[in-house]
Amino acid sequence: MKQRLLYPMLTVAAAAALAADPYAALRERMVRDHIEERGIRNPALLAAMRSVPRHLFVPEDVREAAYNDHPLPIGRGQTISQPYIVAYMTELLDPKPTHKALEIGTGSGYQAAVLSPLVKDVYTVEIVPELARRSAALLKQLGYHNVHVREADGYKGWPEEAPFDRILVTAAPPSVPQALIEQLKPGGRLVAPVGATPFTQELVVIDKGADGKIKRRRDLPVRFVPMVPK
Ligand code: SAH
Repeated sequence: MKQRLLYPMLTVAAAAALAADPYAALRERMVRDHIEERGIRNPALLAAMRSVPRHLFVPEDVREAAYNDHPLPIGRGQTISQPYIVAYMTELLDPKPTHKALEIGTGSGYQAAVLSPLVKDVYTVEIVPELARRSAALLKQLGYHNVHVREADGYKGWPEEAPFDRILVTAAPPSVPQALIEQLKPGGRLVAPVGATPFTQELVVIDKGADGKIKRRRDLPVRFVPMVPK
């Protein structure tokens, strides 16, 4: 009897889902308090943030903190970004269902999973072999079949699959790599944290016009791990 009183407003189906995923309530609170509250509005993005099981993308020893308002270590000196930053950058990217997207810095695979339902295909490149292998396996296991992971140097992009409608860089290069600008479709957009040191990074948004002309603007200051050359 007591058990039922815990969630008096939920339907039977919702209560069952909550019981099946003990992190569902934490995830809902993360989206409400840290993402919607700060002004993220894209409905498809909010739905994606509500559905991706972030706790499965972090190491077991930090799982309890998966839905907290900060980045977390994922091994090999790398981090999974703060949930709000993932949401913010994804909204800035403005993904559409017909898009072919490229991500640089697969890391845990979480950002790629969030992009998965928002675009047609996600191509994601990771330089650390162990992270590339682990994330590819997890994304496959969780059914994110339109995400393609490659172990390679992101400075080169993914030339065989270019051009891309959208490019999202999630490690910070000192300047936007020329290969990535070249692999952007006319009409496409690239979002990247750019800066020579962790203390001077800011998000840069590059729009390539239909005529191929580049427009560049600066957005929020951020702090990402540096993008390393191979
Ligand atoms: N998007 C990730 C977080 C990125 S952390 C997530 O959702 O979890 C930055 C990642 O970029 C790290 O995994 C790091 O190994 C990777 N990285 C750094 N330099 C790189 C490069 N030159 N090419 C590809 N990946 C790189």
